Amino acid sequence: MKENRTLMQYFEWYLKPEDKLWKKVIANAQDIATIGITDVWLPPAYKGAGGKYDVGYSAYDLYDLGEFDQKGSVETKYGTKEEYLQAINELHKNNIKVYADIVLNHKIGADEPETVYASEEEQKNRNIDKTLPKKIIAWTVYNFKGRNNKYSDFKWNYTHFNGTDWDESGRKNGIFRFCGKHWDQNVDTENGNYDYLMGADIDFNNPEVVKELIKWGKWYLEVTEVDAFRLDAVKHIKSTFMAEWVRAMREEKPIQCVGEYWNRDLKALIHYIEKTNSSIPLFDVPLHYNLYEASNSGGKYDMAKILDNTLVKEMPQLAVTFVDNHDTEQGQALFSWIQNWFKPLAYALILLRKDGLPCVFYGDFYGVPSGNIAPMRDWLEKLIKARKYFAYGEQIDYFDHHDVIGWVRAGDDEHQNSGMVVIMSDGPGGGKTINVGKRLANKIFYDYTGNVKETVYVDKEGNGIFYCNGGSVSVWVNRDGDLVNGDGDFDNFYNKKI
Ligand code: CA
Repeated sequence: MKENRTLMQYFEWYLKPEDKLWKKVIANAQDIATIGITDVWLPPAYKGAGGKYDVGYSAYDLYDLGEFDQKGSVETKYGTKEEYLQAINELHKNNIKVYADIVLNHKIGADEPETVYASEEEQKNRNIDKTLPKKIIAWTVYNFKGRNNKYSDFKWNYTHFNGTDWDESGRKNGIFRFCGKHWDQNVDTENGNYDYLMGADIDFNNPEVVKELIKWGKWYLEVTEVDAFRLDAVKHIKSTFMAEWVRAMREEKPIQCVGEYWNRDLKALIHYIEKTNSSIPLFDVPLHYNLYEASNSGGKYDMAKILDNTLVKEMPQLAVTFVDNHDTEQGQALFSWIQNWFKPLAYALILLRKDGLPCVFYGDFYGVPSGNIAPMRDWLEKLIKARKYFAYGEQIDYFDHHDVIGWVRAGDDEHQNSGMVVIMSDGPGGGKTINVGKRLANKIFYDYTGNVKETVYVDKEGNGIFYCNGGSVSVWVNRDGDLVNGDGDFDNFYNKKI
C-alpha cells in the first residue's frame, strides 16, 4: 500500500553536544516511524570550524564525520562517525529514508593563512570594487593535518576560492574578491551578486574544485548510504554546478534532493528550478512567509490567499513545504518564527493536502528548551497520523472566506476509511457546508483532533456542515473505522490493519 511520505528535520539550532543527537536518532527511529515519518533530514555530519560546538554549517573538513582529532575533538556536535552510521542504519531498519545535509558553498576554519591580492567590494553591490587590488592575508589554506590524507589528499588554497571576509594583516572585515577571480554567475542577484555568503567562498569555476567535490560526494554516498541530500545555501552556488553535481550523484544512486534557496520571491525560486532543469526541488520559502504573516496578523489575514504566490501552488511536484526550521528560530539571522497559536493551522496546511513533501521541524515536535518552546508532539502526532491514514484521494478546496477555509480529501479504495474534511479559521469559529462526495455519503464524521466534540452527519448527497473553533483547525474523518471495535481508539484499529 502506498503511504503518504512525511519528512522530519531531525535537529534544531540550539542542541548541545550533551544531547548526543546520533544516539537520540537511534533511540527514537522506531517511534517516529510508527507515527508516520518516512524520511529524516539529519544535520551536517562533518567537522565544522567550531568543532563539537558547531551546528555544522561552518564546514571545515567534509571527510571528517567525527573520526579525526581536529578542531578540538574527534566527535562533532552530534557524535562520532560510528554513531552517525549507526543512526542511518537504524533509520533504514525502520524504512526511513535519510537526507544528508550538504554544505558546499564555503569553508571556514582554515589551517593557515596566505598572502593574496584582493579588491574589497561594496557590501550592497558586490559587482563594484571599493578598492584597487591590494595585498591581504587570507585564511585559505586547508591541509587537514589531523586527517593525514586519509580518503583524499586534496589540499585547498586561495586558488580554489573566489574571496573571503577577513584580512588578517589589517584585522579587517569586508568582502574581498581575489585578484583574477570573478564571482560565480548563475547565483541570486540580491546585493548585485550573492555568490559570497561567508567564510572562504568556493570557486566552482575551478575544475579541480568540481572534480574534488564530485569525488567527495561519491565517497559520502558510499560510506554513509544516505538516500537523499538537503543542499545548503544553493542561492550562493552557481546553479549549473549544483545541477552537475546532483547529476553525478544520480549516476551512483537515484537520490532525492531538496535545495535551500532562501528567497521569499516565488519568481527567484522558479528561475532557479528552470536553470537546474527541474532536477532540484526547493523548500517553499514563500509559503513559510505567508504562514509567518498570517500568524502575526491577529486573525486579520485573508486565509483565502494563504497559498498565493507559493511554490507548492505553482510547482507542486518540486515543493518541500515546512513551517519553521533551524534558521527561523529566535536569535538567527532569518528569525521568522511562526506564532504558537497558528502552528496547528500551518501544519494542517502542509500535512493534509495532496501537494508538496511536508517537513516537520524537530523544534516543534520536541520543543526548544533554550527558547522555552514547549513540545507540540501530541498535536503533531495527530496530524502526521491523519496524513498517514486519511489524506488520500481527490482534493476539493473551499478557500472562499477571509477567516474560515477548508478542503476535502475524497478518499480512495487503497486506503480503507480514508478521506477527510479539514476546516480552519484564523478568526472566529465557524462552519461550512461541504460536499464530501459519494464515497463518504451517509457517514458520521468526528473531529480527529478532538478540538470539536460534536459529530457531523453527512447526508445521502454527501453534504454536511463542518465546524472549527476560533483560531483553530478541525480534521473531520469517518467514524466508521472507530466503530469496528467501538473503543474510541482509532489508532488501534489502524495499526491492526496496517
Ligand atoms: Ca558562493
